[in-house]
Amino acid sequence: MAFKDILGNERQKKILRKALQKDRIPNSMLFCGLEGVGKKSLALVLAKAMNCEKKKDDACEVCSPCKAISRDNFPDVMVISPDGNIIKIDQIRILKQTAYLKPMVGQKRVFIVAEAEKMNEEAANSLLKILEEPPLFSHIILVTHNPDVIKPTIKSRCQILSFQPVSREDIEKILLEKGFGKERAKIIALLVGGNLKKALNLEWEEIQAKRAKAWELFLSLLKKEKVATFLKNYVSSRSLRREELEEVLEIFSSFCRDLILIKEKSDIRLLMNPDYAEVFKKTENFLSLSKAMDYLEKIDYAFYAMQKNLNMNLLVTSLFSNLIS
Ligand SMILES: [Zn+2]
Repeated sequence: MAFKDILGNERQKKILRKALQKDRIPNSMLFCGLEGVGKKSLALVLAKAMNCEKKKDDACEVCSPCKAISRDNFPDVMVISPDGNIIKIDQIRILKQTAYLKPMVGQKRVFIVAEAEKMNEEAANSLLKILEEPPLFSHIILVTHNPDVIKPTIKSRCQILSFQPVSREDIEKILLEKGFGKERAKIIALLVGGNLKKALNLEWEEIQAKRAKAWELFLSLLKKEKVATFLKNYVSSRSLRREELEEVLEIFSSFCRDLILIKEKSDIRLLMNPDYAEVFKKTENFLSLSKAMDYLEKIDYAFYAMQKNLNMNLLVTSLFSNLIS
């Protein structure tokens, strides 16, 4: 993998390549952003570029360091991942001991701490010291999708690079390149909220089941029938899974957009859920255009509020009462 293989995040790639050209890659870095946007892959490309024998600001993919790093078999590049669900102090101790030794075969030592939010207190404290004054030949890249739980003392010692979700268009394009059908690519891209890794791993049957369930819920809210199902699923006392709710709201939002297009007699090729066109048409009798727009606004607001980390239970309760009012 080289820079060109990491999709989206052009600005972030440019920053890193410029720094490579000037030999100014920071020694302590924090890559943060949603899951599945390529943070760890980019950290690996950076590790290769720093050790590449042919290129200064990219991985050539053919020299022996590039190849060895791809095979996870290069002594100067170490990836540290949680042991079970935790990154333990022993793992950080090994990092620290090694970081002070000159590279064995490469030009730079690179340590990639994946899921850095899983460092326990001891491990995080232990890491602090080396982040303050890493040796010039060692680079530590922390990778996390949840920077909020990383200690401020760690963050303040790192150069932070924030990643954006991969755009829906890019995900759709990649899926098409991988041989997915047009309709499937479009639907999957819609569902994954910018998470490319998830897009590539979702099972089609699972997606269909999720959409069918979401449609049933959506319809019950529209018709104000059997609304208890929604309550039972999303406003009960059980802890809500954020990801699950995000998915449902994404699907709801796409239903609303499609229903508006149908109402406006637009080309059905524009639909996000083209396979639901006939089903949508059957809602004509009980859904006005203004109601669909109102729904879309409320759902999009709930989505926005969720990104802002507002209390989930409160948010769902208020969305629910807004939708059935
Ligand atoms: Zn190379």
